[in-house]
Amino acid sequence: MNEKRVRRLNEIDTRGQGPVVYWMSRDQRAEDNWALLSAQELAVENKKPVVVVFCLVPEFLGAAIRHYRFMIEGLKDVEQELLKKNIPFCLLQGQPGEEVSNFVENHEVSLLVTDFDPLRIKKKWKKEVKNKIRVPFFEVDAHNIVPCWAASPKQEFAAYTIRNKIKSLLPEFLIDFPRLKKQNEAVKIPDNDWEKTGHNLKVDFSVPELKWIKPGEKEARNALKRFIGQKLSRYPEERNDPNEDAVSDLSPYIHFGQIAAQRIALEVRKTGIKARDDFLEELIIRRELAENYCFYNENYDSFQGFPDWAQKTLDEHRPDQREYLYSLKQFESARTHDDLWNAAQLEMVKRGKMHGYMRMYWAKKILEWTRSPDEAQKIALYLNDKYELDGRDPNGYVGVAWSIGGVHDRAWPSRPVFGKIRYMSYNGCRSKFDVPAYIDKVRSIL
Ligand SMILES: Cc1cc2nc3c(=O)[nH]c(=O)nc-3n(C[C@H](O)[C@H](O)[C@H](O)COP(=O)(O)OP(=O)(O)OC[C@H]3O[C@@H](n4cnc5c(N)ncnc54)[C@H](O)[C@@H]3O)c2cc1C
Repeated sequence: MNEKRVRRLNEIDTRGQGPVVYWMSRDQRAEDNWALLSAQELAVENKKPVVVVFCLVPEFLGAAIRHYRFMIEGLKDVEQELLKKNIPFCLLQGQPGEEVSNFVENHEVSLLVTDFDPLRIKKKWKKEVKNKIRVPFFEVDAHNIVPCWAASPKQEFAAYTIRNKIKSLLPEFLIDFPRLKKQNEAVKIPDNDWEKTGHNLKVDFSVPELKWIKPGEKEARNALKRFIGQKLSRYPEERNDPNEDAVSDLSPYIHFGQIAAQRIALEVRKTGIKARDDFLEELIIRRELAENYCFYNENYDSFQGFPDWAQKTLDEHRPDQREYLYSLKQFESARTHDDLWNAAQLEMVKRGKMHGYMRMYWAKKILEWTRSPDEAQKIALYLNDKYELDGRDPNGYVGVAWSIGGVHDRAWPSRPVFGKIRYMSYNGCRSKFDVPAYIDKVRSIL
């Protein structure tokens, strides 16, 4: 294990007598998981078994039943895969600050390992656990190819400032994964009661589950194979056309950690297809740039996070007259004057995944049709996180901040409402793809 992938979250050296525990949170998979591999390495060193725990919270940043079901079904897969390796999987329910700490105490856990996440809520959970436990606590970046803290020690300005830093570290980090080893000693942990799991969720049950995408590690691998076999070669030319089925649809799997970005990169790289470079730019550089932003900028989901030039220009244009103004309710029910915008909104509500190109147009129009950039950001994040299966992700916070607040972008010629923020128009879309065909396509989604 490359030690740069691991950080200590406390300075305690005294170990408990019991198992090494991997508190799985963001990276919900058995294979290709550096946090689990690290826990296994520590367990072998200390002659202890590994146990994996997951703590299911009853509500999480506006996630709906759509998201919880996808996650819970994926976790059942994780349990089965771990069982094959004799590694117990224990599902806790409640708040991690209580549940994970109690588990550590009750099982005399020797060492605790968890995975990395730049979001505030995860930092808070880890702090709460850290304050309660008396054993060594480690964090492993199992989500990024280049660990977030190794890629850069500061918030990066744009893709061009982080690209070479990441690229120069790929030979060190973009390596194949070792296989997870079968464990000799089985630890007795009570069975998980999946029937009762989720009964106490305090989530929105009106956002329906999705049928077109199946959760879990195996399904994620199948989706990757399909993408490589059927779409990758068309990716550079067709990825910005929402009528073409040329994108990977891997973001929900990456978000829930059901597949490692590193596995995707390894398989795509192997193909030798020229188109791979465009795809890897998105998967590695753009995605890891978003991680960098959320890790180093506490205000990743608010106006204060925008760069100074963007705050200034947006402030100057606050008094500008807006041609249309819509409420959250009107946006949510896709009742604007713009049939293209309405179609994008409906694609997100019905399919749980708006096409990437439309996401930019969608967010920029919310800026154009609300009273302030702050309100626009709030509405965009609320809708994104309620309906997108890949919502509540650094990519989402940054996607919205890029569209509305110029994050990782540059200043453009000034215009009303937007100031120097990059503008997108209906006619611009018409020149790029068949707008009526897209509207029809969305209409046909059941
Ligand atoms: C307003 C707005 C909101 C967004 N919300 C989210 C979100 O909630 N969750 C989310 O994962 N992405 C979000 N994105 C980024 C991007 O649109 C999605 O990652 C992409 O559409 C996912 O579909 P895919 O996996 O089929 O993409 P592909 O084109 O197949 O790309 C493969 C992978 O590369 C990465 N990637 C692609 N585009 C970007 C990008 N622009 N920035 C960072 N990484 C990228 C993702 O990990 C993606 O899964 C948002 C973008 C915008 C403009």
